[in-house]
Amino acid sequence: MHIDCHTHTTRYSACSTIDPDHLCSLALKRGLDAVVITEHHHQWTEDELASLSRGYPGLRVYAGMEVSVREGYDVVVIGTQLNALGQRHMPIENLVDAVADRRDEVFLFVAHPFRFSKRFDRRLTRVLDAVDGIEMNSVNIMRGHYVIRDGRYSSDDDALYERALQGRDLVRLYNSDAHSQDAVGAIMSRIEGHAPENEAALASMLKTQQPDEVQNSQLLETCLSRFLF
Ligand SMILES: [Zn+2]
Ligand SMILES: [Zn+2]
Repeated sequence: MHIDCHTHTTRYSACSTIDPDHLCSLALKRGLDAVVITEHHHQWTEDELASLSRGYPGLRVYAGMEVSVREGYDVVVIGTQLNALGQRHMPIENLVDAVADRRDEVFLFVAHPFRFSKRFDRRLTRVLDAVDGIEMNSVNIMRGHYVIRDGRYSSDDDALYERALQGRDLVRLYNSDAHSQDAVGAIMSRIEGHAPENEAALASMLKTQQPDEVQNSQLLETCLSRFLF
């Protein structure tokens, strides 16, 4: 199945310009089977999700949450009942402690790890050692600095990603991190199996995967050229 594990909507992310219905209709149109809405410091309730996804049979919609941790990184959490973790700038170890009693049913990945800093220091190591996965590519990762090789788009930070993966068994994810409509479906992960029942099951499933990256070069060209400076 094709899944995007990192998206934002206008419902709870002030930085986004996509309303939730538009996200869902574009996701379906652009070949996604599932999306995870990962608003900043807020998780949609089950009822909200159910009423949104009713209009889009064929698309599974999940909710996670993006948390900015004290170390200066953004960690996306996928699981159920996350709103108690919505506090900003907690140390990564507090985030891990808060889900320790259900760690099998929570998936943590670091989003765009080298977007704001290319330093490889202890704070980054602490985050990388605590998470299950790493976002290897997204529209925001490539914004302002990307390369095209054999028709594939990637950031020019390959060496940093290689270093992050060294000695760590991290699940490598490919997401849109969509904040605007062009980005929906531009990058996604292809994983084995069918869309599971809920976020807890999705979290367990993601831990067993090593996704393939799927790109839509036409959409990527549109969204990346807008951010050239
Ligand atoms: Zn945002
Ligand atoms: Zn995000």
